[in-house]
Amino acid sequence: MLKERILIIEDNKALSKIITKKMEKNLDFEVIQAYSYAQAEEIIEENDDFFITLCDLNLPDAPNGEIVDFVLSCGLPVIVLTGSIDDELRSEMLKKSIVDYVYKGNIEDVNYIFSLINRLSKNRDIKVLLVDDSMVIRNDVKKILKSQMFKTLVAAHGEEALSYLETNKDIELVLTDYNMPVIDGVELTKRIREEHSKEEMVIIAMTGKNDPLISAKFLKIGANDFISKPFSKEELICRINNMLDSKEQLEKLNSMVNRDFLTKAYNRRYFFSEIKSFYQQKIPFAIAMLDIDHFKKVNDKYGHDIGDMVIIALANILKRNTKGADIVSRFGGEEFCIALRDIDKKRAIGFFAKIRKTIADHTINTNGKTIKFTVSIGVSFSDGSDIEELIKRADSALYRAKNGGRNRVEIE
Ligand code: GH3
Ligand code: MG
Ligand code: MG
Repeated sequence: MLKERILIIEDNKALSKIITKKMEKNLDFEVIQAYSYAQAEEIIEENDDFFITLCDLNLPDAPNGEIVDFVLSCGLPVIVLTGSIDDELRSEMLKKSIVDYVYKGNIEDVNYIFSLINRLSKNRDIKVLLVDDSMVIRNDVKKILKSQMFKTLVAAHGEEALSYLETNKDIELVLTDYNMPVIDGVELTKRIREEHSKEEMVIIAMTGKNDPLISAKFLKIGANDFISKPFSKEELICRINNMLDSKEQLEKLNSMVNRDFLTKAYNRRYFFSEIKSFYQQKIPFAIAMLDIDHFKKVNDKYGHDIGDMVIIALANILKRNTKGADIVSRFGGEEFCIALRDIDKKRAIGFFAKIRKTIADHTINTNGKTIKFTVSIGVSFSDGSDIEELIKRADSALYRAKNGGRNRVEIE
């Protein structure tokens, strides 16, 4: 796939080079450099497919920010680079539909560009619902959201918002006014919270400053944050980005809660919570308990670190050979539990026979040593019994596999 492109228009070649280098190292974009207005014009004329442009306000052939208007007129998003930022320039720039401006005075500010571009690149996949009965505010805020590349839906009151939420399950953030006909912002927040937690759906209330009690009311009923009207474009963007960053952190945390640290396979907790859906959907499945043979000897002979490597290699083989809807989980030590979803007995037996062989044929090469290992597998099948019972049956099959000489599959 072709890399997306970023255009940097900056006459200070040293600075342009630093930014380009850092950008290509930290972000997956191709960076094109232009040193003047004329050169930028030429590049854009030839191919205007840029994710974002960085525009210096002071170019040899365009000393007063003319480049910004030109690039905007080509329909390209602009981040302004500036050497000096006074209040007048700042407010003039913010009036235009630029994404943001960056003071290029020091390296921290330059670093800000990367987090900004990262955020924008994620924003493209985020759907935001804006709810306000004032058309003026709707248009203003919509423009701001568009400048940050969000997919934006707009509703004029709470009831319309609810119908959008019903048909657009991928909305992640709601920005709502308080005073609206039919259903107001607080009632809307309450209704959303009946179905979506604070972690699933971010709600930011836009409140008037004449009524300080409203903000507290919003927060108590479940809004994640509020912003008082009138607000600056910058403040709104910062609040939205903060909320989305926390949401992302939380999602990462969830993945940590569900997965085993060493192998990144699912953990026991996740297995038991996920297997419930197999029962609810009445899907036939197979359960296997799998344990490495004579693993103590591996540890004794090669040391604990290589023992860990063997466990990781096993997890990878299991993950590689199963489907996304199957569950590969580490129950502890060198013991795994696997649930194969939507499978009949014959195919399940075939699968485990094959995986036993794949593992036995696998070699790990490290520090000039070649390590091989085998596993024993016990299998049971869904028949309406609860999961504890199925695991117990797979476990006794495993016990028989061990007693029968190891490196084998036993069926319940
Ligand atoms: P068997 O064929 O009967 O299963 O023999 P075994 O040696 O594998 O016996 P057992 O299952 O009782 O031993 C498991 C060993 O795995 C004991 C423990 O020291 C080791 N172990 C458990 N967790 C880890 C781990 O995270 N890393 C490493 N390197 N070793 C582990
Ligand atoms: Mg073992
Ligand atoms: Mg064991």
